[in-house]
Amino acid sequence: MTTIERGPASAAGAVAISFLGAAGEVTGSCFRVDCAQARFLVDCGMFQGGRDADEKNASALDFDAATLDFVVLTHAHIDHSGLLPRLTARGFRGPIYATPATADLAGVMLPDSAHIQEKESEWAREREHDRRSAPRRAQGERRAGHRAPPEPVADALPLYTLADAERCLRQFRPLAYDVETDPRPGIALRFRDAGHILGSAIAEIRIGDGGARRKLVFSGDIGQPGRPVLGDPTPVPDADVLVVESTYGDRLHKDLATTYDEFAGVLARTLPRGNVVIPAFAVGRTQEVLYVLADLVRLGRAPALTIFVDSPLATRATEITARYAPILDRESRDLAAWQARHRDRVRVVFTESPQDSMAINEIRSGAVIVAASGMCDAGRVKHHLRLNLPRPECAIVFTGFQAGGTLGRQIVDGAAHVRLFRQDVAVRASVHTIGGLSAHGDQAALLGWLAGFRRPPARVFVVHGERDTALGFGALIRERLHWPSVEIPTRGDRIPLA
Ligand SMILES: [Zn+2]
Repeated sequence: MTTIERGPASAAGAVAISFLGAAGEVTGSCFRVDCAQARFLVDCGMFQGGRDADEKNASALDFDAATLDFVVLTHAHIDHSGLLPRLTARGFRGPIYATPATADLAGVMLPDSAHIQEKESEWAREREHDRRSAPRRAQGERRAGHRAPPEPVADALPLYTLADAERCLRQFRPLAYDVETDPRPGIALRFRDAGHILGSAIAEIRIGDGGARRKLVFSGDIGQPGRPVLGDPTPVPDADVLVVESTYGDRLHKDLATTYDEFAGVLARTLPRGNVVIPAFAVGRTQEVLYVLADLVRLGRAPALTIFVDSPLATRATEITARYAPILDRESRDLAAWQARHRDRVRVVFTESPQDSMAINEIRSGAVIVAASGMCDAGRVKHHLRLNLPRPECAIVFTGFQAGGTLGRQIVDGAAHVRLFRQDVAVRASVHTIGGLSAHGDQAALLGWLAGFRRPPARVFVVHGERDTALGFGALIRERLHWPSVEIPTRGDRIPLA
């Protein structure tokens, strides 16, 4: 057992929350709770996008990781789980509580993320090496007629390695929805279905006993009710302290019927002469796109389809999703049964090897190609864009948020040319954005979930939204629900709960 200086919050009954990420922004979810019974994290996510993300990831977790007793992980998305291997590398040895599906998804996503970290650090070292040796070499060649030896590069270390990720995965402790466990004496933890991605959870944490007992609720990411594949977010009746996300707290999504109409239109217009390329995040979005496509065929609104899923990570995630059929919604179980009887109508080809992937390049029309990454800044989708973007008879369909600075954002914003593999590629394909598949609940969905509380939480913290969105959503909670205390924390805030 570790003995820790827990600071002023260690007084009996006192609890403090530190907002280490996703405060005034959407990525880097990480909240530390200090109380007399324990010190723990809820989520340990990576910062993504934006110029300062690398720096924030490197400087995150600037406390003694060995003093943590446990971690609660709400879901597998990298902006919630991506720094867990770094936490392990920095000395954390305690259990990581997550639902069984989240643990399985993390089992493929964290090693994949480690691989990306290692590759990026390799590239950074090469670039740095070229930068340092190029002028010296020119000088050396002029003076002595030979190449100067390269200098070693000390920085650009990976955030973590594959070995760190594998060690971290051994710390996972699966906990099913609606089952209570005691991570430490005097602390009870229970997960509720958040309806966001497979395995996603709302965390209910009770601290203390008797009159001093307090209930903290962390929403994690809340899904959009009525979406395919997943259940709806579970209402939570009460909390003393609520930490709630606000990603889309300022807008309403188009409904699913519109999404179906738009998809059907693109398929009908494009497939006779061209291909449809769908950049999609491997976990969650790929499975929803597959659902919608199969459903359109079942409903007679699309012809028989051949769909290529060209992402090994998406293939793994789709296998895991199929294994968890019992926790998916009834519609997706019905559709899976229909598909099993009509394999000729919806042919899904999962490509594994680079050779299989390249074979798709020969196809000129009639193919639907689903590939990662969702924002087109990496992965096999870039090859499919290089071949299909210049062809006016093809279509590119975006189904998710495209962050500023990504290739996906340039295409959505109407660029006439983009750079791909150091080549200038003309954009002549039709470009579509279909918005009804968001994994995050919109404003109405978030307010709907909040309305499930039977009494106002004493303290509410709005997180996981751009600052203006979080501020606006906070104001809306005060106005519509009349809750007494709604705060929008900033990264680094440590807030004692009296
Ligand atoms: Zn998420």
